[in-house]
Amino acid sequence: MQALLSALGSAGYAAFFVGGCVRNALLGREVDDIDIATDARPKRVIEIAEEAGFRAVPTGLEHGTVTIVTEAGPLEVTTFRRDVETDGRHAKVAFSTDVAEDAARRDFTMNALYAAPDGKVVDPMGGLDDLRARRVRFVGDARARISEDTLRILRYFRFHAWYGDPMEGLDAEALAACAEGADGLDRLSAERVGKEMLKLLAAPDPAPSVGAMAQAGILARLLPGAETATLTLLVHMEELAGAAPDPIRRLAALGGEEAAKRLRLSRRQTKALDLLRTEIGSAAGTAELSWRHGREAARDVELLRAASFEAPLPADLEARLDRGAGAILPVTGRDFADKVQGPEIGAGLAEAERRWIASGFTLGRDDLLG
Ligand code: ATP
Ligand code: MG
Repeated sequence: MQALLSALGSAGYAAFFVGGCVRNALLGREVDDIDIATDARPKRVIEIAEEAGFRAVPTGLEHGTVTIVTEAGPLEVTTFRRDVETDGRHAKVAFSTDVAEDAARRDFTMNALYAAPDGKVVDPMGGLDDLRARRVRFVGDARARISEDTLRILRYFRFHAWYGDPMEGLDAEALAACAEGADGLDRLSAERVGKEMLKLLAAPDPAPSVGAMAQAGILARLLPGAETATLTLLVHMEELAGAAPDPIRRLAALGGEEAAKRLRLSRRQTKALDLLRTEIGSAAGTAELSWRHGREAARDVELLRAASFEAPLPADLEARLDRGAGAILPVTGRDFADKVQGPEIGAGLAEAERRWIASGFTLGRDDLLG
């Protein structure tokens, strides 16, 4: 990684770490993907990387992005850009050789921080002060930036949830700009909206941000029928139970019509969400849920029930989860095939299962066949 940066440097180009990796490193938080910004054009980046012995993959040449494979993982190297025009969904960009121009097209000041290989921070937009104050601030005029790219509305709430001051409300000016730009949300792809919403919902406590989205009239446009009260209680229940943040569990608390479609959830996520939504109001007890769906899903249902009905969590939650998860129905269809025929086999098995569950998984084989 350092070798690539020094190769670019030796060839006379500027190369900086930029965006989330700089922000998170400064905050002492986990860094997942590493982005590099450079004034070298993509073709030169590829040449220099290959000369230095790296594999270079032109992953997004139209955006000026080349992925370099290093032993520390993939690096996204993107040529400095400046905005030239936009259609409100995707900014159109041209290459630039000026780091300040590159900074000006980024969304928030805390995301427009650059770090040289020696660690020196370059801060064209005053992002360091904002980061210290835990203030998510648009680069430039919020209204103008939102009209260039409506997704920035969602990113504003997401970054506030992750990096904003939890005691401070959101900035009134920025909120007003988000509310004004809300018309453009309908034109965003479900995929982009879904990605941002799930990242927002994965924050330690997304409830204040989501509450502000609701007040600004944004949540109802994305997820008609969604309600925020249960989400606030759910986060509280999660803290009590020591449960890690989970965006699908939080989405189940929000509700909303056709959430899976509107957020383009994966098949697996859709199944998980449907299961939670169905079981919140079902009669199945904790152990039964755990037996049917596994302990994680069962715990999620119990957290959601507690939040939805403003009830305490079951006292011996973990023991009940264990009991259900470890239970094995002591009879099979074969046991009934010896006694009855045809559809009666299935009916007999179903009845045995019902009695077994009702007994709290205590009835044995003889009880069930007798
Ligand atoms: P994380 O990856 O931790 O979610 P990040 O800051 O890396 O956070 P990304 O979505 O990966 O966020 O984007 C990388 C960088 O690209 C951002 O830090 C920002 O500088 C810039 N960026 C991304 N999306 C936009 C956008 N819609 N408008 C302007 N700049 C953007
Ligand atoms: Mg990133």
